[in-house]
Amino acid sequence: MYDPRQTGQKSSFTAKKIHRGCALRPRYVRVAFMNKKTVPELIARLEALYPKALCTLDYTEPYQLVVGARLAAQCTDERVNKTTPALYAAYPTLQSLAEADVSSVAALVRPCGFFNSKARDIVAMANTLLTAFGGTVPGTMDELLTLPGVGRKTANLILGDVFGAPSVVVDTHCIRLSNRIGLVKNMKDPVKIETALRKLLPENKSSDFCHRLVMHGRAVCAARAPRCAECALRDICDAGRRAIPDAPARQ
Ligand code: SF4
Repeated sequence: MYDPRQTGQKSSFTAKKIHRGCALRPRYVRVAFMNKKTVPELIARLEALYPKALCTLDYTEPYQLVVGARLAAQCTDERVNKTTPALYAAYPTLQSLAEADVSSVAALVRPCGFFNSKARDIVAMANTLLTAFGGTVPGTMDELLTLPGVGRKTANLILGDVFGAPSVVVDTHCIRLSNRIGLVKNMKDPVKIETALRKLLPENKSSDFCHRLVMHGRAVCAARAPRCAECALRDICDAGRRAIPDAPARQ
């Protein structure tokens, strides 16, 4: 069975025990369950479970991934994928999207929710791409963050999927699973989680790793009812080990 002690890893419990009663005890002991030595096993298992680490948003042009990511806020990728064909049928080019009437775009993206603000951002984003970047999606974090409606999550998605650059997409699945598995400890802030994961993950694996976390979150580790008993990560997952102590992982 996987044992963090054999990898030189201190669990949060052990760390607390070491400092108990010590005058120099830090006020907060925040030690994640997993570390650089144990992460490769997690990566390998996720790769075996989900050989194809694919983005679940449909797109053919890079700018369409920016549009899809904006629409995906507070919405499922599935619904976005059902919505975008009509949008691109009405506005088949970046130029036509930039010239579109915002209310017409809003009507088309209505199923995705928050349709007025999403439509405003999409049309503004298309204009910015044309005026500031010659109609192409830029390839740096700083440039991507200048696009209306684009935050670090979307920028990382573009960097990883369009440019193949090292990236860490911190979405709701990533936040939930990173905490449960023990990649981070009691962290909710996406930027802090991104920083922590960048330290743990090899650069060439980080983008696909995040896609696989999403896939595992959807398949097994749901927000309300994680199915730890069926999970192949159970013996290397902090929450799984606490939920079902001593049980071997499902092979
Ligand atoms: S063991 Fe449970 S908490 Fe851990 S990843 Fe699997 S389903 Fe999620």
